[in-house]
Amino acid sequence: MRLTVIGSSPAWPNPGSVQSGYLVEGPGRLLLDCGPGVLGRLREQEGWPRVDAVAITHLHLDHWGDLVPWVWGALHLRGEGADTGTPELWLPPRGGDRLATLGGFLGYPGMFADAFDLREYAEGEPFQAAGFAVTALPLPHYTIGSHGFRVTDGRATVAYSGDTGPSDRLVELARGVDLFLCEATLDEAEPAPPGHLSEAQAEEAFLASGAARLLLTHRPCERPLDSRYELAHDGLVVEVEPAARGGR
Ligand SMILES: [Zn+2]
Repeated sequence: MRLTVIGSSPAWPNPGSVQSGYLVEGPGRLLLDCGPGVLGRLREQEGWPRVDAVAITHLHLDHWGDLVPWVWGALHLRGEGADTGTPELWLPPRGGDRLATLGGFLGYPGMFADAFDLREYAEGEPFQAAGFAVTALPLPHYTIGSHGFRVTDGRATVAYSGDTGPSDRLVELARGVDLFLCEATLDEAEPAPPGHLSEAQAEEAFLASGAARLLLTHRPCERPLDSRYELAHDGLVVEVEPAARGGR
């Protein structure tokens, strides 16, 4: 399984970086989140992104905004005979209705349904996307909530936190995974209701989870990290292998 960091920026872009987008490749190609700038970055690799599925953690703009230009490109180019595909678009519960409402303002209500094969995941129930088994767990994120994804090809497993405050469920999400891609937006814990993690809180969840490797992301450049942490950057490619498990 290969993870490519397409965009690693937080809710405002770091210089030269784009917002949340993580491409997981294995049995198929699965894009986790699609924030502003992600579509252009994908198009640097191929004329139009060939992904089997896109999965969205929550509907804050930095995690889905480039689905809007994706729709316009897919529909116009398809009209000109190009094969832009119809990726599955996996949304949070009730996400289809919400995107239809937003579509009414951004274009027309059915715009997302015309460009994507819309699906909604159920919290805690594994679903198949791009050949991976994916589980979405609900996580605290201010008042709207968000989801983390656990993605496996049956061999290696990646957990992606999306945006989250501290939660026992975050530890559950990352339990024993080979790579834990975790946000660390803050440099210190914030008061309730929390929406993000500090690097110390991310590390605490990582240590409790028994995951093999921690990769921090969604970090403002104004908050530099101690060099002992591994920080994602746009373009980073990680080959995720099943970690050797000792103790037997
Ligand atoms: Zn975010």
